[in-house]
Amino acid sequence: MRYIAVNSILQSPSFCGLSLGPRIFFMKKKQIIEQFLSIQGEGRSLGRLAYFIRFAGCNLRCGWCDSLFAVEPSLFQGKADEVRYHEVPPYCDLVVMTGGEPTLFDLKGVRDRLLTPTRIFEVESNATRFPEAIVDDFVWNLSPKLSSSKQKTEIHDRTRLQSLAQWATYAQGRSNVMFKFVMTGPSDFAEILELVKTFRISRDQVYLMAEGQSSSTQKIENVAWIIDLCKKEGFQYSPRLHVILWGDQRGV
Ligand code: SF4
Repeated sequence: MRYIAVNSILQSPSFCGLSLGPRIFFMKKKQIIEQFLSIQGEGRSLGRLAYFIRFAGCNLRCGWCDSLFAVEPSLFQGKADEVRYHEVPPYCDLVVMTGGEPTLFDLKGVRDRLLTPTRIFEVESNATRFPEAIVDDFVWNLSPKLSSSKQKTEIHDRTRLQSLAQWATYAQGRSNVMFKFVMTGPSDFAEILELVKTFRISRDQVYLMAEGQSSSTQKIENVAWIIDLCKKEGFQYSPRLHVILWGDQRGV
């Protein structure tokens, strides 16, 4: 797959004047489908104690989504809760906002209620939206979806490169952004490499992970090829520790 130049994407008539953006769910109070204390299972904060807040609602539909209960309205309607601020332990210095797609919601409002001098707020996002007003307030664990994610919505193809270009520009020289690519097989690599080159993403900000919801998918015999790619290309590897420990169990 080849990507056209960023400028031509931004200027393309197919992007102009279209209200393609996802619906924003800001105003709902009951928008949380899960909240729990655990350890961060992926990326730079791997192993850190963290309080997870999972928002219900997503603008994408990935074929291998492991959080469908937070994506399909029919699965979360009537079950959503408010943020239980009082349950966040004062000694927990990491809050992870996940989903679904958290940028559809009022992240700043939640952050402001939980802010302490030492607490860090990470957002797990699919990178299809660039919330300019709040980018400096969070650590962004971006997971741009590849062709192999088998999108069931056209929003993905229409907006993702435009948004990814904004994220990549913002990320330059900053330490609060990482790009996590979920790989279903070696054939994903050419697409990742092209995205990294097209958008000039720094290799130390790129993490590769293996797709899969069972612990066997994370075993060394199944991920060695990803680690080999990291060694060859200068990318980082992230295990999915929660999958290794708990498989597809929820709330852990
Ligand atoms: S972006 Fe994430 S939450 Fe949304 S459908 Fe894809 S995998 Fe699921």
